[in-house]
Amino acid sequence: MRDLELYLHIPFCVRKCAYCDFLSAPADREQQEAYLRALKREIESFPDKEAYQVSSVFLGGGTPSILSGKWIAELMELLFREFRLEPDAEITIECNPGTADAGKLRIYREVGINRLSLGLQSADDRELALLGRIHTWTDFLRTYEAVREEGFVNINVDLMSALPGQTVQSWERTLAQVLALAPEHISAYSLIIEEGTSFYERYHDDAVLRERGEPPRELPSEEEEREMYRITEQMLAAAGMQRYEISNYALPGYECRHNIGYWTGVEYAGFGLGASSLLGLSRKPYHDHCDKGSEMSGHAQGKKQVSPASGSEQAECGFTRFRNPENMQAYLDGDFSGREITPLSPNDRMEEFMFLGLRMTKGISEREFQKRFGNSVEEVYGGVLKRHCADGLLKREGDRIALTARGLDLSNTVMADFLLE
Ligand code: SF4
Repeated sequence: MRDLELYLHIPFCVRKCAYCDFLSAPADREQQEAYLRALKREIESFPDKEAYQVSSVFLGGGTPSILSGKWIAELMELLFREFRLEPDAEITIECNPGTADAGKLRIYREVGINRLSLGLQSADDRELALLGRIHTWTDFLRTYEAVREEGFVNINVDLMSALPGQTVQSWERTLAQVLALAPEHISAYSLIIEEGTSFYERYHDDAVLRERGEPPRELPSEEEEREMYRITEQMLAAAGMQRYEISNYALPGYECRHNIGYWTGVEYAGFGLGASSLLGLSRKPYHDHCDKGSEMSGHAQGKKQVSPASGSEQAECGFTRFRNPENMQAYLDGDFSGREITPLSPNDRMEEFMFLGLRMTKGISEREFQKRFGNSVEEVYGGVLKRHCADGLLKREGDRIALTARGLDLSNTVMADFLLE
């Protein structure tokens, strides 16, 4: 049996936040109900369920907690009926403050949900209003207390730094206020000004100035952004939370299993509008089963051209990425003709192994690379590794290769060098 992670996308929100480019929008009850029917059909029709055991489930969005508790219960019952879930599977639901009352939280517990991810972003009401969030800090506190009262012992809080008008001091206050509540996990991302959002209209020029190294007008400067990152790591470490990924921190034992699976290449099935899946169709050596287009062809500087693996029965093959249609009507009609299907070449998989694995502070295992791909990491990436180790951006310790503290700061630049094609 192979491990599988499940992701259910609930694309509904009370209203759209000003910075958000996720596939989500407000919807009335009738639309939500139609969507739930389509989602259930898709889950039921997933093939080869018996080949898998499910290690984690993530109900994300959007705002899954705006659905009625009864509907969440129906979805969970369906998952338990259709899939073999490991007894200790991590089951997370994303909630926004003010959308999950005690009644809903009770139902979540009863149906096996054991992790809550709360979208806070900031403890400053002015910043929350600017982001277009539906809640205040006080609303968040009420939800947080209700979640604890219901007995949840694994809570994540989402935070966002580098907001327009935010100062290092206001970010520090947000961290201090959240840490006083002692959540088990914190995700702390920097705001990205995404095209198609109302923030893009207002702050794109500012973001360009910052990229050019010029002082932005309303966004924090690059130095301030770095300082926010530094303070985050310091304050969270002092509270016993370890940074285990570029933007994720947890008390020991509370690292998000679902995300770690994603960063380490565990197969996942995504259900819902625009959801992605990564599924391995066989685990045979490349040279037997992969077509010409899949052959490795590393050609960038420092990356050696290597032949397809030979003699490694462990090497993987046949991994394919699927992406559901983003058109709501097509999804409701069960019309998956617009689904993107991308067979992944060995090069794609090696690249992902490196740049997803290196997101984690413990990095990647050289033995695991060899086991999966039949070639050593040295053969494929020797030049890149040597260069970045010499520059102090990567470190090699025993079997592991990981970003250094400086490498974590410059992770985008380092990751780009692991592209093979
Ligand atoms: S609640 Fe989340 S998904 Fe919904 S609009 Fe805001 S940021 Fe986007």
